[in-house]
Amino acid sequence: MIRFEDVSVVYDGADAPALRGVDLTVPEGELVLLAGPSGVGKSTLLNAVCGLVPHFTGGTLAGRVTVAGRDTRSHKPRELADVVGTVGQDPSAHFVTDTVEDELAYGMESLGLAPAVMRRRVEETLDLLGLAELRDRPLATLSGGQRQRVAIGSVLTPHPRALVLDEPTSALDPAAAEEVLAVLQRLVHDLGTTVLMAEHRLERVVQYADQVALLPAPGAPVLLGPPAEVMAV
Ligand code: ADP
Ligand code: ADP
Repeated sequence: MIRFEDVSVVYDGADAPALRGVDLTVPEGELVLLAGPSGVGKSTLLNAVCGLVPHFTGGTLAGRVTVAGRDTRSHKPRELADVVGTVGQDPSAHFVTDTVEDELAYGMESLGLAPAVMRRRVEETLDLLGLAELRDRPLATLSGGQRQRVAIGSVLTPHPRALVLDEPTSALDPAAAEEVLAVLQRLVHDLGTTVLMAEHRLERVVQYADQVALLPAPGAPVLLGPPAEVMAV
């Protein structure tokens, strides 16, 4: 579903590559945890999946990154909305509208869908994320966990095949983190969405993961396997 073939990324002005020769295949319909020490290239890898690297960050990307067969370098990130959605640590950084409902609808704006389809998708996503009661709420009044669910919802309404998340629970208390993780697990199991998630607090998330992709050190090959196997390395 998400495939890296011999991918290297060099940021402008950097002396060492941020990623070197990465080969990785994330299978469809799995939740894969991306682990590794700070600075090893996890954010770079996630940003390459949705085309943010190199479109927005600059630098050069060698090799090939594809999601559902689409080469992320030959599309603008906006054109990949129905293939891959991305969510970061700070949900507020994504928000462009004022209310929950508007924010979910905004995610579909560039897709050219009929208004009735957009309305249906907003309803379906409100239900899926347990946000129906909050639909008219101003985003500024939501808790951290609710905001993170809205941020996930806004990238889900285009019905992406994959979702990449960069430490989505790191700013949340344990209860809110669990709500977000439960939502991700539901997406994987009920809709077959592929989820690739970076997280440094492994103990919190490892029970939700089908596999772990470990970047052990800069430039080292990625290890992919069942959590117990990879974490034992
Ligand atoms: P991680 O997410 O694992 O902490 P990153 O992907 O953020 O790692 O960073 C990998 C390396 O690339 C680090 O050395 C970091 O300083 C560098 N880096 C990250 N983003 C940029 C950027 N936009 N420009 C230049 N260097 C960057
Ligand atoms: P439309 O494509 O016209 O919006 P629906 O809203 O009925 O049609 O959704 C079509 C199917 O997509 C439904 O079976 C629904 O369960 C499923 N679906 C819902 N959310 C998602 C999602 N985030 N990604 C993929 N499929 C989804």
